[in-house]
Amino acid sequence: MKTTKIKGHFVIGHDGSKHVFYRDGEVVYKDDTIIFVGKDFEGHVDEIIDTGLSIISPGFIDLEADIDTDHALIDVAFPSSPENRFVMGNKYRTIDPYTDEDFKIRQTYSIAQLIRNGITTAMPIEGETFHGWSQSYREHEIMSEVGLEMGMRLYVGPSFRSYVGIGEGYDDKRSEQSFSDALRHFEEFDGKGNGLIRGFINPCQIRWTKEDLLVRAIRYAEQKNAPMRLHACEGLGEWEHIRALGGNTTIEYFERIGLLSPKLLIPHCIVATNRELETLARYGISVISTPFAEIQGGTALFSFAKYQHYGINLTIGTDAQPVDMIRNMRLARDLDVMCHNRQIFRRYQEDGSVMNTFQDEPEYKRMTVADFFDAATVNGAKALDRTDIGKLAVGAKADIIAIDLNDIAVGPYEDPVRTMIVSCTGSNVTHTIINGKMLMKNKKLLGIDEDLLMKKAQVVLEKFLNLYQEYDQYNRPKEAFFPPSYQFMD
Ligand SMILES: [Zn+2]
Repeated sequence: MKTTKIKGHFVIGHDGSKHVFYRDGEVVYKDDTIIFVGKDFEGHVDEIIDTGLSIISPGFIDLEADIDTDHALIDVAFPSSPENRFVMGNKYRTIDPYTDEDFKIRQTYSIAQLIRNGITTAMPIEGETFHGWSQSYREHEIMSEVGLEMGMRLYVGPSFRSYVGIGEGYDDKRSEQSFSDALRHFEEFDGKGNGLIRGFINPCQIRWTKEDLLVRAIRYAEQKNAPMRLHACEGLGEWEHIRALGGNTTIEYFERIGLLSPKLLIPHCIVATNRELETLARYGISVISTPFAEIQGGTALFSFAKYQHYGINLTIGTDAQPVDMIRNMRLARDLDVMCHNRQIFRRYQEDGSVMNTFQDEPEYKRMTVADFFDAATVNGAKALDRTDIGKLAVGAKADIIAIDLNDIAVGPYEDPVRTMIVSCTGSNVTHTIINGKMLMKNKKLLGIDEDLLMKKAQVVLEKFLNLYQEYDQYNRPKEAFFPPSYQFMD
């Protein structure tokens, strides 16, 4: 058992109900558990890490952690012209083009990126564009092993699905197989590595997964006291699907089929009506907002303040490049201000009148930077039904990061959380400790050959891009879908 003290100019501790600050504070942890937060610890320590002019903060909890190094990067690249649209050919849902080694590289790279950005708990999301069916047991077996090897706190769950494609009917055999693989993974890996790896239940979007499978899945999650993440309230296509099933809005439909449960986490949840928000709050359901991923698709929550007003437990996920929780907090804060002052939603007319698209929407209490910091820390813990992560307090897991303020790029500092959100990015994270183990020190990932990993990940990304031609109905080269921003002259 080793006792370590980490010191910094600011420490973000916790008084039992909320985060609090200490100036020139210290956090002491023994093995994987915090035993002291405050000033002037008098007991024996084996090692002292002095981070100088920095913020010692709880690590971030990312409930939609992009872990495939590709889809989230290329989401912005698709041209908008219909003639250049990628059309899936007949290879769709037939074979798995990725090798075990490919998965291992992109997972290792992604987890390294999370650690680099101070994310200490992650519930991964991966693209499955070119998968044979959904994400496989094997892919997640590798991910759990990679996570264990690297020391990352992960919630892992292979996805499962019922439908081949929209309007293409379902495949009962593969549907059941993918579900039983997901449960097998849960049984095998939940709690592995002394609790570092946890399982979660991960059905594909509602349009891909049969109703009875969703219901069986949530009952399983409840029985195992495990989270289930299900995308919902994403837009018109989903509404039409729900109506075809005899529902009205998504959440009303969920309530009718018995899907609402505190175990449910809903990413995005963009188009929920006020009544649906009330219902979600009543069931204690958490929403995962992913500001960068959402805004790149032209959507955002209207508004964080409104969801908070309705009593929703709001959390943040990255789900896109940059995998940077600090920048996501900043963007969330900016989007919230935009919704609050509504300037952008007003149309100024020639006759001097103003059209206000949101005149019937009341004003909600403004969010503070602390609300966004809570979303990235304690609210994430609450969504996972945990009291031992997301905060620096005695008895909590030693998931600790340091953010450097001694950097001219940051500018002068004042309040630590305001400075972090306004002036810093994930690149300012210098130290990441997970479960008491130092995984990054002075911005170097320990035990990882970063140069080699970057080279390997580049090769896997190229493979991914080339798959577009292979899968495209018209066999067009990748440049048709990802044209260079400017012409290459060589
Ligand atoms: Zn998502």
